[in-house]
Amino acid sequence: MNQRELFLRHVGQTSDAPLAIEMVKARGCKMWDAAGKEYIDLIGGISVCNIGHCHPNVVEAVSSQASQYMHLMVYGELIESPQVTYAQKLAGLLPSGLDSVYFTSSGTEATEGAMKLAKRLTGRTQIAAFHESYHGSTQGALSVMGSEYWRNAFRPLLPGIMHLQHNLPEDLKRIDETVACVIAEPIQAERGVVVPDRNWMQALRDRCTETGTMLILDEIQTGFGRTGSLFAFEQFGIVPDILLLGKALGGGMPLGAFVSSKEKMDAFTNNPVLGHITTFGGHPVCCAAGEAALDVLLKENLINDVDRKASLFQKTLVHPLINSFRSAGLLMAIEFPSWEINKAVIDECIRRGVFTDWFLFASNCMRLAPPLTIAEKEIEKAVGIILSACDAISHKD
Ligand code: PMP
Repeated sequence: MNQRELFLRHVGQTSDAPLAIEMVKARGCKMWDAAGKEYIDLIGGISVCNIGHCHPNVVEAVSSQASQYMHLMVYGELIESPQVTYAQKLAGLLPSGLDSVYFTSSGTEATEGAMKLAKRLTGRTQIAAFHESYHGSTQGALSVMGSEYWRNAFRPLLPGIMHLQHNLPEDLKRIDETVACVIAEPIQAERGVVVPDRNWMQALRDRCTETGTMLILDEIQTGFGRTGSLFAFEQFGIVPDILLLGKALGGGMPLGAFVSSKEKMDAFTNNPVLGHITTFGGHPVCCAAGEAALDVLLKENLINDVDRKASLFQKTLVHPLINSFRSAGLLMAIEFPSWEINKAVIDECIRRGVFTDWFLFASNCMRLAPPLTIAEKEIEKAVGIILSACDAISHKD
């Protein structure tokens, strides 16, 4: 069997049509397949590789930490300095109510831990989430996912979940004193990058404060400069009670976190003790990689260039096949008339050396979330390829 056949035979599959391209190397904004073909990566591992692939500082941090120690003990017992310095750095960059970081191995586990913390803090059981939101795929996170299509086959799920409409002021009234937490993405990524009104976000914050409900903001996809500020919530002038981090948090290594105040987080230390447990959460090599990536993001002022680069995409991505372009910094969606057209353009882009993808709840939209380090020349080249792919698909009709 060749590598493709072995992949399909022995690696558990969830897609009915995986891309099945064997990549052998990635650097910066580029990836190379086994045949030596070069791709411009316009999705950065789905908003993970914010400073590009294999940044030398991250590679160095990984190898130096791996040679010091890797896994030592389950989470929260020993002092592991990569966790301590990274948590301290994050706390220093966040508002004062967000100063205690619980590290997990993935974004989904951050969702799970945060929902448990909210229940423990409020003594309530109801949870509110939003239609067309994504917070992970385990049974708790799946329960709050905003799509019956993905939930239905896995019932029974968590009871007491209600789904509200994002950006709809009337629905905020449904948040009352029975609700432990509201979990929301500040920008609905998988819906094809939908940005709510600033007023609505502030009203959501106010409603949670009035009812004693914990506001959990999921910045797993929008964090670390992707939308033009370190975290998207800063643009709305609000602070969540619990913040979810993942993806770019680990600089390319698996890492998630939920962040709250020390006072709130301490609820996990009693009744029951060890209120949330993980073996690998906050793995020292992942924390070292994440901190190195964050240092690069900040030292190179990459966030300052996000809006300029996004507008370069926006200005040049004009084609009769493109219905609209939505963006929150370098989290961007190109809307096509249908899934079929989107998929055909995506496949054509990949054939022509631009790596891109679609969104879970917006299958007619092409995802663009390149490393923030992408150069203007790479943007121009990538846009040229997308437009030529659009031409090729238009002419097929
Ligand atoms: N929340 C959001 C907004 C996400 O985009 C994702 C991943 N796509 C998750 C949660 C889950 O993160 P992970 O896949 O690391 O478990």
